[in-house]
Amino acid sequence: MKESTRIMLKKHGWRIDRFIHNYIYFAFYYPYVKIVQLVLPLAGLLTWFKPLSVVGDFVFSRYHSKVISVGDTQKIFSLNEDITAISEKNKRIIPMKYAFKILFKEADYIAAMDCPCKKAYNDKVVTEPSCFALGKGLASFWLDHGQKYHARKVTQKEALDTINKLRKLGYINQAFFKVATGGSTGVICTCHPDTCVSLKASAITKKIHPYLSQNIESGYSVQCDTKKCKKCGTCVKTCHFGAIKMVNGIRTYNKDLCLGCELCVENCAQNALSLYVDPVKAVPLDIDLVKKEFANR
Ligand code: SF4
Ligand code: SF4
Ligand code: SF4
Repeated sequence: MKESTRIMLKKHGWRIDRFIHNYIYFAFYYPYVKIVQLVLPLAGLLTWFKPLSVVGDFVFSRYHSKVISVGDTQKIFSLNEDITAISEKNKRIIPMKYAFKILFKEADYIAAMDCPCKKAYNDKVVTEPSCFALGKGLASFWLDHGQKYHARKVTQKEALDTINKLRKLGYINQAFFKVATGGSTGVICTCHPDTCVSLKASAITKKIHPYLSQNIESGYSVQCDTKKCKKCGTCVKTCHFGAIKMVNGIRTYNKDLCLGCELCVENCAQNALSLYVDPVKAVPLDIDLVKKEFANR
């Protein structure tokens, strides 16, 4: 048995079912995502059937993402120390029932792998590896088992370069949490709503119930300096989630629809937009804040 498999087995202890799920998920990433892709249109036809929210809630409480802003993404990819935050307090950041451990161990040990969603949806823009596993435990498993998905070891700088390049093309970042991977984060994704099963799943489940989403908002909302805004409409086109509109020459913003991804801020040529920590939203996955207020000592 390979060392990385042994580490994974040890992590799951007696929950051999979770070990098997984890093993299948990462060793056969693509068929796993392909099955979800095939099921989604059916779910899209059944949004009128409200009891389906029970299924969505079951899945999402065990497998979900936290959207992360550019600044918070950069902090994660600059980590040079271990972070362990395991407590119910984390639910202020990740308000989910089962998977909410914030664990970054040897976070500078990074593997990049092809994104199965982009492959399934035939994303023509991004062909390079854009999923990142942080930490030796998971990254070495990818390197051992993900050759078919071009898994390779990358530096923090290489990962950030890819992320910055893709953000310019309209991709956002998410940290994924999954019960089967130990209930903690470990994978940082770079996703586009047109080619991401997770964002597509949420677009469907939000029709069942507006709060039924696999993707937790970053925790930031956007403020606009109206003196700087030239009403060019770029932010309207940039936002994937319909949070910004231009109605009769007036720019409107619906923060309930905003995931705080920061794309509009990056794309405003007038620097009229900025993020602020919104007290009515989940707390951001800001490593400085996690170290100060959430980490176990
Ligand atoms: S969640 Fe995002 S990066 Fe991860 S596999 Fe799907 S599209 Fe790719
Ligand atoms: S991109 Fe900036 S300048 Fe253009 S409408 Fe949006 S806030 Fe205003
Ligand atoms: S308004 Fe849209 S683009 Fe801007 S941060 Fe919110 S979700 Fe992202």
